[in-house]
Amino acid sequence: TFITFEGPDGAGKTTIINLVAKELEDALLTREPGGIEIAEQIRRVILDTENTAMDPRTEALLYAAARRQHLIEKVKPALTNGKVVLCDRFIDSSLAYQGYARGLGMDEVYTINQFAIEDLMPELTIYFDIEPELGMKRINKNKGREINRLDLENLDFHHKVREGYHLLIERFPNRMVRIDASGTVDEVFQKTIRIIRERLEE
Ligand code: C5P
Ligand code: MG
Repeated sequence: TFITFEGPDGAGKTTIINLVAKELEDALLTREPGGIEIAEQIRRVILDTENTAMDPRTEALLYAAARRQHLIEKVKPALTNGKVVLCDRFIDSSLAYQGYARGLGMDEVYTINQFAIEDLMPELTIYFDIEPELGMKRINKNKGREINRLDLENLDFHHKVREGYHLLIERFPNRMVRIDASGTVDEVFQKTIRIIRERLEE
């Protein structure tokens, strides 16, 4: 079962996905962009704070390339072996960030991603919803987090990202489940694990 975790920066995806992975013992925990060596290398290029000249389409293509390699090398084999795969971000991040917030168009970004994933969509996507103001506050408090190029974006950009996710929820109501991520870690975790267990028992 392929489960992805989505939401704006500072929503708490990484914190919660780690707790879910501990709870589900033999699930595979991975992340995007990255998760394997080639994709981690691409990630460094995309997120390098020096790379301010990067064109939005270049960015979208690099995310799709990293996604492809990660899917083929890591996600697909695990799914074939019957594993639950928990992935921190996937295609919806590209649709919300590059498609909507950067203005490339969700349909166009979907098209290049369809080339990359060949219909391998997640069965369940947990969307962690957070006000960008609160998300940014959390990020600034998290001293261990490394600064990336996206941290240089303003609040408007993050509002657009959130709007993009809300459009995706309307478009994929069966696959995507929204969770209010403004609560405590334990509250958000309890809601998340309940939804995942329900889906795994189906
Ligand atoms: O999820 P994580 O925080 O590791 O992502 C790293 C950065 O990449 C974030 O700042 C996120 O906003 C950005 N990102 C993006 N477009 C994507 C995926 C991630 O701008 N498609
Ligand atoms: Mg994270």
